[in-house]
Amino acid sequence: MPEAGIAVTLQSRMYETKAWGVVNQPDFINMCVEVGTRLTPDELLEALQGIEAQAGRHRSYKWGPREIDLDIIFCGELVINGERLKIPHPYAHLRRFVLEPLAEIAPDFLHPLLGESIERLLHRDVNPPLLLIG
Ligand code: AMP
Repeated sequence: MPEAGIAVTLQSRMYETKAWGVVNQPDFINMCVEVGTRLTPDELLEALQGIEAQAGRHRSYKWGPREIDLDIIFCGELVINGERLKIPHPYAHLRRFVLEPLAEIAPDFLHPLLGESIERLLHRDVNPPLLLIG
């Protein structure tokens, strides 16, 4: 991603996860990365959408199968509640497939709205552990 002005500084392993929201579709592969960038959050979202388009993402239905899905989960302490961009990602704290990989790279990071660490949010979660594949 260097061409997009985004440098990956930390990355989790990959997890195979059951589809969330809509079942009866192939499993997903999830991971979290920390990036450094000088882009604004809006520019970062645009860059991620460009990468999704390049990777051949075809939108199906909401929460349906997709080649790639890049989301911004946190941006430090920043809170944005825009039409197009919401940070923290509104579902992050509810999704084990986000929390589990995130806990590998940022276990002590405090959710800016909930004031709880990723590790605590993960342990509050009742879903079974994910299958680690890489
Ligand atoms: P998705 O289908 O999951 O890729 O959702 C993409 C849509 O969610 C885009 O239209 C974005 O404008 C919007 N969105 C809102 N907040 C975020 C976020 N934190 N990260 C990525 N997309 C976001």
